[in-house]
Amino acid sequence: MNCIDCNNQLTIKINWYESYKKKNWYICIICTLKRRKNYYRNNKDEISLRKKVIAREKRIICLKHYSNSDTPFCKCCNEKFREFLTLDHPNNDGYLHRRSLYGTQNGSGSDFYRWLIKNNFPLKLDVLCWNCNISKSLYGICPHIERMAWLRK
Ligand SMILES: [Zn+2]
Ligand SMILES: [Zn+2]
Ligand SMILES: [Zn+2]
Repeated sequence: MNCIDCNNQLTIKINWYESYKKKNWYICIICTLKRRKNYYRNNKDEISLRKKVIAREKRIICLKHYSNSDTPFCKCCNEKFREFLTLDHPNNDGYLHRRSLYGTQNGSGSDFYRWLIKNNFPLKLDVLCWNCNISKSLYGICPHIERMAWLRK
């Protein structure tokens, strides 16, 4: 059998994989890579858009899970706009945890959501809005809570 792209003979382990053979994919490894590259080049926008949509869906799945509700909300201020919501580690170790997962300080959000789903949500997390999340990490406690406590005095 020859490669239908470059016409070189196909030899398993040299320029062809067993798995290609099983799939009746009569294209050598080099030409397969070329095709992939071209496909990516020609469909760049579509591919990155699809990735974005998938990442967004995974994020929503995680938010719903941790809010225990079909309408995710901020645990602190009840914010319901999804765009404002994020996941928070109750003890502020999110950064460290991501780093230990990916060996890098910028394990990206979408990798993190994918990891959570794949591992069946192994971490205990809270859904917070960005405001509450940032206030909490800057001041240790969100002003919502602090001020509410102060008002109750
Ligand atoms: Zn070829
Ligand atoms: Zn909030
Ligand atoms: Zn708050």
